[in-house]
Amino acid sequence: MLNFSYKCTECGREYPISPDLMVCPSCEANQKANEPLRGTLEMAIEGHLPDGWDALDLLPVSREYYPDIPVGNTPLWAPARLRQLTGYNNLFLKDDTCEPTFSYKDRASFLVAAFCRQHGIHEVAVASTGNAAASMAGVGASAGLSITIFVPKNAPKAKLVQCLQYGSRLIPVDGIYDDAFDLSLKYTRKTKALSRNTAYNPLTIEGKKTAAIEIFRQLGKAPDYVFIPTGDGVILAGIYKGFHDLMQFGLIDKIPIMVAVQSSGSPNLCKAFEKGNFASPVPSKTVADSISVDVPRCGYLALKNLREYGGMCICVPDEGILRAQLELSYNTGLFCEPAAASAYGGFLEGKEKFEIGKNACIVLMITGSGLKDIDAASKILPELPKPIKSLDDLVL
Ligand SMILES: *Cc1c(COP(=O)(O)O)cnc(C)c1O
Repeated sequence: MLNFSYKCTECGREYPISPDLMVCPSCEANQKANEPLRGTLEMAIEGHLPDGWDALDLLPVSREYYPDIPVGNTPLWAPARLRQLTGYNNLFLKDDTCEPTFSYKDRASFLVAAFCRQHGIHEVAVASTGNAAASMAGVGASAGLSITIFVPKNAPKAKLVQCLQYGSRLIPVDGIYDDAFDLSLKYTRKTKALSRNTAYNPLTIEGKKTAAIEIFRQLGKAPDYVFIPTGDGVILAGIYKGFHDLMQFGLIDKIPIMVAVQSSGSPNLCKAFEKGNFASPVPSKTVADSISVDVPRCGYLALKNLREYGGMCICVPDEGILRAQLELSYNTGLFCEPAAASAYGGFLEGKEKFEIGKNACIVLMITGSGLKDIDAASKILPELPKPIKSLDDLVL
């Protein structure tokens, strides 16, 4: 049996897990406007892994509380044509377009939903660029929870339709994601709803670690490199946490080199990694909406992990992201959204820049489906062909 508690990633204070505790109260006092969250909490684990363990055993809510929707256990596959094209024979795709709501966010929503059922909480509120909202709405529907969603009004339509389809209360915000984030926090402070805001609710980091554990079990070892599309840095933090847990239990002896990939149009973490601190945020503008954030909420933890474990950052311009999206589709049949394609775009740029050996074992995190944003993909596709009446209309 394992015991779980919260530990502050800044001051190291420990706290019992409680629905009311989101960030370290002591470090939160130092929070300034326009900077990443202070006092991000991570899960500390004590005890021994049970025999025949799986990823759920490493999460702080016991099995009976999870909803029945099948989250996680996504394929890790070897794309033969992409390996041939790039010359990297140990390249793998971790395909989270296969999640029930078609994005990686389901991993966090799954744990949050189980936590709510354990604690008798009936409503969850979330601010999101789109995927976390759609995910909480879908996973929440399977768990029988009420979901309230704050999204920037210009989020891709498919993600908004998903929220309505799953029966959540959709509140578009006249502003950007950061405005939606602030409004949703005001809402959860006024109501009994639990916040699923990414980075703010520590369960979002913990839930997102499961992919690392799956990768380890699928490969039978830790990979050398993992390329991670990065906005707020919570997927990055979660994957670090997963490998960290595996190391704590003596299952691996090194943490893979993580490469955080951002869009050049939303480069705030990359910039801070170079400069050493977060300067005032540059407004984001990128086709990769899911990694478009002005203030990376998990930024301090991201910098700490990247420094401690020799991680790296790379930025890819929007044209590179769209080209990577198309190349991935042409050569693998996997159609992912632009944010997810940045993992491949980052690999294409990073393999030379970081002098990655041809035999290195590399995993690209493919975090969301392309059908969520067909307008983005259409930007570099030819126009849809004109309808025909007879084969005479075709050049054969
Ligand atoms: C949210 C998201 C990301 C980035 O995750 P962060 O935790 O914000 O860094 C990447 N890709 C997709 C598809 C996402 O939905």
